[in-house]
Amino acid sequence: MRHFGSACIHLSKSKKIMVKRNPHFGKLSAEYLFLEVKKRKEALLNKQPNAKIISLGIGDTTEPIPKVIAEAMEKVALDLSTKSGYHGYGPYNGLEALREKITEKYYPGLVDKDEIFISDGIKSDMARLQILFGEKVTVAVQDPAYPAYISSSVITGKSGFFDPEQQYVDIVYMPCTAENDFFPDLSKTKRADIIFFCSPNNPTGSVPTHEQLEELVQFAKKNDSIIIFDAAYRVFIKDPNLPKSIYEIDGAKDVAIEFGSFSKYAGFTGIRLGWSVFPKELHFSEGLPVINDWERVLSSCYNGTSIISQMGGIASLENEGEEALNGIIDHYLGNAKILKDCIEKIGWPCFGGDNAPYLWIKVPGKKSWDAFEDILYKTHIVTTPGVGFGPSGEGYIRLSAFGHRADIEEAATRLLKFK
Ligand code: PLP
Repeated sequence: MRHFGSACIHLSKSKKIMVKRNPHFGKLSAEYLFLEVKKRKEALLNKQPNAKIISLGIGDTTEPIPKVIAEAMEKVALDLSTKSGYHGYGPYNGLEALREKITEKYYPGLVDKDEIFISDGIKSDMARLQILFGEKVTVAVQDPAYPAYISSSVITGKSGFFDPEQQYVDIVYMPCTAENDFFPDLSKTKRADIIFFCSPNNPTGSVPTHEQLEELVQFAKKNDSIIIFDAAYRVFIKDPNLPKSIYEIDGAKDVAIEFGSFSKYAGFTGIRLGWSVFPKELHFSEGLPVINDWERVLSSCYNGTSIISQMGGIASLENEGEEALNGIIDHYLGNAKILKDCIEKIGWPCFGGDNAPYLWIKVPGKKSWDAFEDILYKTHIVTTPGVGFGPSGEGYIRLSAFGHRADIEEAATRLLKFK
């Protein structure tokens, strides 16, 4: 066994070829959070095979896709079997009708349809984003944050090693804690070329105010940085006073790229559909438009998004589809309320859940993995340990509200007994 960074790897004795491994993989932390969660769940099942496990861990949707949306996808799939309905490659930036709908619904008067690029989801766009910026840029992330920002940055060479403090050297961590209302203290934040920022945040469920986002935009302008604004959960923001897009902030188009997704909105986690917004105003230091290079990345590394997903996306944004989906969003937010009421009865500090499908819970006197194990073994509920999202998540667990109502109610009953 040899140690590469903090990862312990068993070297194979089979024949070696001449190709060297990308050394950046050796810098990744040993375990991928959700694989480790799965491993520990399986360990419990080995000991207690009859345990009825409820998963409030991974943020995957559970409610079926409304029929009107499935029918739109069925129709285009069947049309493909006809001469007149057959399509080959689609436009690399997506169907105009879908780009128009996204503009109209989410960015009226803010963004042009030609600044929108349809994709197979944010996670793959994040990988393409790393190609766009190359390995030399420096990176800042909210701490805690969605792990893909860091892992895609590390794999593409933006960090040294994972240090004993469980942080990646060369990546700027912006602590977001209960003490700073989950918004980073920008007066103490070191400059980075690109700043990943997620609202509503996964995992804390926090949503910054207009004033806070103004501060972020000013910070990016002062430092000549680019904000990568991840709005995967924007549809969960019900408070009309909270911003849903970075472009609601004056001047944001000079410094921000935004990503959106149908995954959590329309239950498309398995169908795959998302988009990016690259404003024409955004330029590199040499004065060249960033959007031009993004077009080049897409034309070199992507052949467009499935036409079936895109037609489903259009149906999701039309009246009948949208109405049905709003009911599902309300259902998940109802789940979040049940869990939040339960945690408040228990008396643990609890954040998020009002404008987000996640609850961020401090378990008094416990480290994240200890709280995870304790809850798993005593209630058979799978949570996600907060420390897996960054060092500032230590002592927290995340609950996902994406479950079926009966499971959420049963989980709440078990948690109250656990107390
Ligand atoms: N961004 C955040 C913050 C997420 O939590 C997730 C998925 O959990 C994604 C992006 C991935 O989105 P997509 O399914 O569009 O790839």
